Amino acid sequence: MPRQFFVGGNFKMNGTIKSITDIINNLNNAKLDPNVEVVVAPSSLYLLLVREHLRKEIEVAAQNVYDKPNGAFTGEISVEQLKSSGINWTLLGHSERRVILQEDDKFVASKTKAALDGDVSVILCCGESLEQREAGKTIEVVNNQLKAVAAEIKDWSKIVIAYEPIWAIGTGKVATTEQAQEVHAAIREWLKKDVSPEVADKTRIIYGGSVSEKNCKELAKQPDVDGFLVGGASLKPAFVDIINANQ
Ligand code: PEP
Repeated sequence: MPRQFFVGGNFKMNGTIKSITDIINNLNNAKLDPNVEVVVAPSSLYLLLVREHLRKEIEVAAQNVYDKPNGAFTGEISVEQLKSSGINWTLLGHSERRVILQEDDKFVASKTKAALDGDVSVILCCGESLEQREAGKTIEVVNNQLKAVAAEIKDWSKIVIAYEPIWAIGTGKVATTEQAQEVHAAIREWLKKDVSPEVADKTRIIYGGSVSEKNCKELAKQPDVDGFLVGGASLKPAFVDIINANQ
């Protein structure tokens, strides 16, 4: 079975009720490739607004979730709270959280386990810094990020892996098709060896980092690129062209 193409939109800390409503209307009125699974991740404040008004075949993701079920954790959101709001997905391990908020591999893994235990699917981000790439450590860094998750979970069916080189995020500096394919193939190889050939075959590995309507078609042709995680361009009408990259 071929892997279903997957496109995620990460709105990050952007948008107001007015601009998010414009994005919802644009997506609701667009002709979208029915073969593509689409998930958008607005700020937590707008999760309910988006879930209520967005067409139902598009799923909505939180940008983060906490690993404890409830209690005195000011500012955090639980898996149960997401589920009770109709939110079935979360991003985890985004580099902005790893770098700015100092989330380590273990914490990301613990949150991944909590999400899956509560039946919330995960877009699991991984990726290297420019310094790590230049030191030849890309595959090692990415594998270590994924190994921490593999130590906590067995079932990968509700995980989409997003390879996002940090140097390509929000910089306009997209990875070349060869660079993306090389890392995606290495991740699949790692899944095959350390998890199972079946998981390697089935798991979607999507690329993120300055994806635009201009570069998406070439990237989408790579055999191990199963879709995209889109930041800046997901706030623009061109997001529809990225969703339809295979048409
Ligand atoms: C992201 O934040 O996940 C991302 C890929 O951002 P951008 O597309 O803006 O580089």
